[in-house]
Amino acid sequence: MNSKKYKAVFFDRDGTLNVDTHYLHLMEDFIWTPEARQAVKYCNDLGYKVIVITNQSGIARGYYPPSDVMDLHVWMNQKLSDIGAHLDGIYFCPHHVKGTISRYARECDCRKPSPKLVFNAAQDFDIDLSASYFVGDSDKDMECAKNAGVTGIHYQYGKSLLKIVQENIR
Ligand SMILES: [Zn+2]
Repeated sequence: MNSKKYKAVFFDRDGTLNVDTHYLHLMEDFIWTPEARQAVKYCNDLGYKVIVITNQSGIARGYYPPSDVMDLHVWMNQKLSDIGAHLDGIYFCPHHVKGTISRYARECDCRKPSPKLVFNAAQDFDIDLSASYFVGDSDKDMECAKNAGVTGIHYQYGKSLLKIVQENIR
């Protein structure tokens, strides 16, 4: 018997929820992909936890501090709330081997395609991974899905995110 309480839809951020302008960290540069907010709402309404899993190597590279990433995520949730949607959690990897900020410039076990952040979220939210999904635009995301034991949904950049989600998640 499965005792986990919730199921989740994990979303990649850059290239999936928003247009991938490299090393995005300012809200004025943030552009949602087509019907991204509606896709989040669709998952909210079906009772899934909606959780973002994102690699943010710009932190290790010294392009922006973790506080910028967190501010952006607060702003994303504000914009989602305009249509009655929300993200339950956001997990990011700040590391990169070629970083310049010594704290973050290292090999780590949380950068996608590692499933570590998905596992952390699953523990925090009591999630049944076998009933969960990962929506992302890159091979790395699909590999992460596989490593985590969730169903991967490959989003083709530029299409309606809502449509992809509706076609695959009920
Ligand atoms: Zn990491």
